[in-house]
Amino acid sequence: MNAAGAASVLAEIAMLLEVVGGDPFRARAFQNAARRLEGSGADVEGLAASGELTSLPGIGDAIAAIVEELVRTGRSGMHERLVAETPVGLYDLMKIKGLGAKRIRTLYAELGIDSLDALEEAARAGRITTLPGFGPKTVTSILEGVASVRGMRGKRRIVHALEVAERLVEHVRTLPGVSAAELAGPLRRRMEVVSSIDLVAATDRAEEVLAAFRTLGEHTAGGAEREGRAEVRFSDGFAASLACVPADRFGAALAVWTGSEAHVAELAERARERGLTLGPEGLGGVATPTEEALYEALGLAWIPPELREGWGEVDAAAAGTLPRLVELADLRGTFHCHTTFSDGRATLAEMAEGARARGWSYLGIADHSQAASYAGGLTPAAVKKQNREIDAWNREVGKGSFRLFKGTEADILADGTLDFPDATLASFDYVVGSIHSAFKQSERAQTDRLIRAIQNPRLTILGHATGRLLLGRSGYPVDVRAVIDAAAENGVAVEINADPRRLDIDWRHARYAAERGVLVPINPDAHSVAGLDNVAWGVNVARKAWLPARGVLNTWELKEVEDYFAQRKQARKT
Ligand SMILES: [Zn+2]
Ligand SMILES: [Zn+2]
Repeated sequence: MNAAGAASVLAEIAMLLEVVGGDPFRARAFQNAARRLEGSGADVEGLAASGELTSLPGIGDAIAAIVEELVRTGRSGMHERLVAETPVGLYDLMKIKGLGAKRIRTLYAELGIDSLDALEEAARAGRITTLPGFGPKTVTSILEGVASVRGMRGKRRIVHALEVAERLVEHVRTLPGVSAAELAGPLRRRMEVVSSIDLVAATDRAEEVLAAFRTLGEHTAGGAEREGRAEVRFSDGFAASLACVPADRFGAALAVWTGSEAHVAELAERARERGLTLGPEGLGGVATPTEEALYEALGLAWIPPELREGWGEVDAAAAGTLPRLVELADLRGTFHCHTTFSDGRATLAEMAEGARARGWSYLGIADHSQAASYAGGLTPAAVKKQNREIDAWNREVGKGSFRLFKGTEADILADGTLDFPDATLASFDYVVGSIHSAFKQSERAQTDRLIRAIQNPRLTILGHATGRLLLGRSGYPVDVRAVIDAAAENGVAVEINADPRRLDIDWRHARYAAERGVLVPINPDAHSVAGLDNVAWGVNVARKAWLPARGVLNTWELKEVEDYFAQRKQARKT
């Protein structure tokens, strides 16, 4: 288990201690430790082995013992005891945004509310407003929260599903009689949110393999089962399935279980034209041990899984015009990163070294602007200081082989203006503009606000354009296509914010942006050195959007990016 894994268990312990244990002080220590560990990239396994976990900030003896246990056994006795004491329904309450451990504790202790249903009923019956600190506004937001948690049930963000999926694939590969196993389904297509992990295995001992697989979940989902396939569910409703086929049909089954409905329908249509039927059982009597064999039998080039959405990829594969998609290794740097100047946890120099260690040749620093006081936004004076530090670093450390760019993540204010005086904006190499406030405008007003920012000649890159948080909030209402059209007209780039909670803009819009000739940088919105690795999630989005490397601004070489920013600045003057 790594630092991030340990952090998420500690954070859950904190929540449970406060809600069920009623011990907010102890909870705070766990919360603090989780925050310090998360994104720290600390080598917890090494530190546990040498007994040095307490050298980490925020980790005392008691918490170190739990982290050590997690590293050694993958579980924690304390965590398991708390989970056993906690009514299952309380977990759903913990997902309601803005409710928080303290209020859940009150609802549970005072009214015995331990599930979404109980909460909804109490809210509607007016019983909640009898509690101190629960006004009519809270009741409205609780009811909205209940509805939104119901909508999220059984779903996970890709970041939380993929790690489990990779472990499951490894496990299935070790089962006796399995000659091959692969991830399939929406997760293999790298969808941003999924409700299941779907696997396909090649085996002649399907019954035994499926029986072993059924023991992995908390209960089996009988209804979804069919011959040669098992599905299990976890306590949060998330599912995992395994389909077993003989090795000579593995390729066809993998493709059928991977593609979207539309993609598979197009494949089946091509099979029909050849007098064959295609289904999970294979391609008629044709041997398809690999996916390549299947696609070839249908007269198609192999199609990268991310593209298998029924969005023209089958025609492109037939015509030999599939794009060569961007890869993680194509990136040369990135542009949207925070440091200790605002709400980041690493210094300028640490972020630069982190970027260098990833083989990049530049990094753009984009700390928050002054309106973002909650995030330590920079005043114009602080910007001057940071820009001097960046110049000094480039001169003394970067020395032409690596460059820090001077940027900012300037708030787009409610009226669409950027949150710095023009002289300050002019002092940056580039400007990212993002909305962090006034979410509750109409779609028309929000769209106009973004377009006004895009028309500002100082803006270089539009940040997280819709403000969505996956499985959190849907983002402000906005006509994304109109915003992209404006970006195309004004030569403004539109980022893929690669924070796995955001993935904003969505791949469906990123594809439209690319078609309109808009450059799409992949930005990690990193708040730590480890956060730089968020770019991998953004690469998935870019690939789903059909983007070749050239369409992603941060695959460009240092010199090209320098010229691009210089040209943009030049163009602004005229
Ligand atoms: Zn932001
Ligand atoms: Zn940011």
